[in-house]
Amino acid sequence: MTSFSSQRIDCGVCGHSQILSVLASTNRSGSPDLDLRPPSMERETLHAQVQSCTACGYCAPSIGQRPHASAGATMKRAAYRAMLLGNGLPSTASHMACWGMLEEAADQPLRAGWAALKAAWACDDASKQGAAKQFRELAADRFDRAISARQMPFEERGMSHALMADLWRRAGRFDMAVSLASAGLVLKAMGGVNRTVEDMLRYQVQLAWQKDTACHTVGQAERAAPDWPEREAAAAAERQRCDEAQRAARALERERLSPRALVRSLASLTTMFTGPEETGAMDAGSRAEKIRPWLERLPLPPSMAAIMEANVRAYGWPVVPTLGAFGLATLGRLDADEQASFGVSERMWNEMCEGHAPLLDYLHWCLRDATALTWHYSPPQREGIGAKPPAYPAVGATK
Ligand SMILES: [Zn+2]
Repeated sequence: MTSFSSQRIDCGVCGHSQILSVLASTNRSGSPDLDLRPPSMERETLHAQVQSCTACGYCAPSIGQRPHASAGATMKRAAYRAMLLGNGLPSTASHMACWGMLEEAADQPLRAGWAALKAAWACDDASKQGAAKQFRELAADRFDRAISARQMPFEERGMSHALMADLWRRAGRFDMAVSLASAGLVLKAMGGVNRTVEDMLRYQVQLAWQKDTACHTVGQAERAAPDWPEREAAAAAERQRCDEAQRAARALERERLSPRALVRSLASLTTMFTGPEETGAMDAGSRAEKIRPWLERLPLPPSMAAIMEANVRAYGWPVVPTLGAFGLATLGRLDADEQASFGVSERMWNEMCEGHAPLLDYLHWCLRDATALTWHYSPPQREGIGAKPPAYPAVGATK
């Protein structure tokens, strides 16, 4: 989203105070043009990228800042005053052009180049093709001088050539466009340019041969590359590989804390449940403390571990029968084939909760909707067997 704010700004040249609309934020979505003009919505903020003092005509990206020492003299020149009036150009274009004159006079060819290019963009938007062409030639000339002065429009290797080639091509100077793009491609042989830059350079040559002066995007240059179908296929394969890896990771995570994993883990720990049986004197709180380390060793989602510990704490369930009943109730949620492979554990769990049928019935019922992969615990909403959690004043009281 693009947003603007109103700011009071004092002109850096004459001090005149004025309220100006200032760009607060913007974003871009899509591919930039070959001259790096950004896509929407940033594209539509061009008018806010230059300010003009309503009193003295000082033009700059931010007129509150101090001007170059040469600004006063430049602003008095007839050419500046004429450009400020616009001569039928959109005001964004004339203000950009004035800013460019000030940078030019201050020997800042790179900034002057951008000012001219942005003036060309404003003319494009107003369908002023003739003026746009002149501003592009001016921009190319200024960028050329900037590059000679080692002020590169872009750090990226070959990108300045790609930009210059586009300026000349759109101005109808196809010979210059081919020459610049070819010079950029030579850099590839000398140490490489990145693939997008290479695509842009090659595309410029192609467009120049076709005498095409229209606006094209970086995305079009990429799609015009001879190996684009292979790249697309490779990118699609990579996306698919990532999707599959993510799915596999999710499945693994689900499996890791699943009822099936609980059964497996509990089966491997069962022979260790041979501690002394709790006595009737042991209170519910102590039992909860006693079962917690076991629950922590099991691959349980925190919510399931908390439920089991809360049951022991609330109803005084004895630890060993509870673990046996939990194993049996969970085993019941697995397929018959899987259940068959836990025969030994099943017998041990049955022994562990012998005499605790209500506890087993209750857990069976609470876990009725769980599956091998998904926990689902819901206390019964009904009457009858397994409907109520058995309370344990003492071990064996339910026999
Ligand atoms: Zn002013």
